[in-house]
Amino acid sequence: MVLADLGRKINSALIDLSKAPVVDEKVLDALLKDICAALLASDVNVMLVQRLRNNVKKSVNINEMGGGVNKKKIIQKAVMDELFELVDPGVEPYKPVKGRPNVFMMVGLQGAGKTTTCTKLAAHYQRKGWKVALVCADTFRAGAFDQLKQNATKAKIPYYGSYTENDPVSIALEGVDKFKADRFEIIIVDTSGRHKQETELFEEMKQISAAVQPDSTIFVMDGTIGQAAESQAKAFKEAADFGSIIMTKMDGHAKGGGAISAVAASQSPVVFIGTGEHMYDLDRFEPQSFVRKMLG
Ligand code: GDP
Repeated sequence: MVLADLGRKINSALIDLSKAPVVDEKVLDALLKDICAALLASDVNVMLVQRLRNNVKKSVNINEMGGGVNKKKIIQKAVMDELFELVDPGVEPYKPVKGRPNVFMMVGLQGAGKTTTCTKLAAHYQRKGWKVALVCADTFRAGAFDQLKQNATKAKIPYYGSYTENDPVSIALEGVDKFKADRFEIIIVDTSGRHKQETELFEEMKQISAAVQPDSTIFVMDGTIGQAAESQAKAFKEAADFGSIIMTKMDGHAKGGGAISAVAASQSPVVFIGTGEHMYDLDRFEPQSFVRKMLG
């Protein structure tokens, strides 16, 4: 179920509630059943769905409500609060500081949209007046440097990479040092997304991280991977200890449940979503407005 449909389903369950002549345990259970079914169909992790159901039931406690209270309002608020909770881990993402270098390191699997997102993020900050540069430390995927170079050139963003050096740690460090010396404010490092072994990929991420000491590590995740989001987010959190997430491919048929599961698995906020293949297809992600929009 795509995100807009999830919103419509939850919305329509809440409208059913508002029309119910009496609000009792049965009506509440029916509402929760509809909402949980919609969340599950959107690939939200089953444990999270159960938790939402239990928390709403606990916080509403319908049998102990007096006659004078507006039960519908209380239930609606409890549902909204739980939905916010699902997408908002309550952790503030890193905020870059003007006038000094801020190093961002991007991690994620090959194909997730990392290289594309690097330029999108760089262009976003450049438009806001920051002095921005890109470093390509993906020596594993043939063509990664060319891709970054092409995107960067189009966006008029300085870049660093190498056709001959094949040690990603050296490239990352050289690039970051060079741009720091040139007083760049935002330096975005693209890393590899695949190796023969997952352990090698994670080892490489750790080495690059130790070398460049990023102020912020961002996990780039494909928004269309559904239930696989949870384990992928967990694995990258353990290996790279990222601080925030960018979900890509949220245009088209992304179910949105992946975003919710990734946030819960890593207790890290989604900061941007990718909404297309072009440079400006990047939107800021705000949990509150996401839930409100989802519910129309
Ligand atoms: P990387 O291997 O992680 O560096 O992935 P790439 O940046 O090369 O992206 C893989 C594919 O996903 C490319 O075809 C991109 O155009 C596409 N892509 C990246 N972000 C988005 C997005 O937000 N929406 C859509 N529709 N496609 C995207």
